[in-house]
Amino acid sequence: MQTSEEDVRRLLTAIGDDPTRPGLIETPARVVKANAEIFAHTGETTFTDYKLFEVATDTDMVVADIPFYSMCEHHLLPFFGTVTVAYQPKQQVIGLSKIPRLVDWAARRPSVQEGLTTLIADELSRIVSAEGVAVHISARHMCMEMRGINRPGTTTTTQVTRGIFKTDAMLRQEFQQQVH
Ligand SMILES: [Zn+2]
Repeated sequence: MQTSEEDVRRLLTAIGDDPTRPGLIETPARVVKANAEIFAHTGETTFTDYKLFEVATDTDMVVADIPFYSMCEHHLLPFFGTVTVAYQPKQQVIGLSKIPRLVDWAARRPSVQEGLTTLIADELSRIVSAEGVAVHISARHMCMEMRGINRPGTTTTTQVTRGIFKTDAMLRQEFQQQVH
């Protein structure tokens, strides 16, 4: 499934512009191409592109800060920021380069920040069967900055914790320090 150039021309007309004016002639083709990248989700409900590695049981918490871009499902406007992912391994870790892939996989479909946070936490929990998982997202939403409440620079934060990140105060605190 893809956006068609005709869809884009119709949108340009609907917002009161002229899709035949010189500046816009190439636009439909560009938007089709951009959408194919921005919404390049696989359609799969689970993330499958990873390998697991065995580790010692006393391995420390794994933390990664990953920049992300996504589109909000309410307005199809960008929201973007940083995902901080942490987990306390039990016996397995996921290859480090795969955590950004997991974030991209989750972000390349229209979503809301809460849903994105939960999806990443759920998938990571499932994949590494960790003692605990924590995901924090700090993001700016163009639908809140360019329209609506019109508050430029506002940051929205969401957090989902699972397992020992809920119960172990020290670990929780360690994670909060990584976030701020
Ligand atoms: Zn929105």
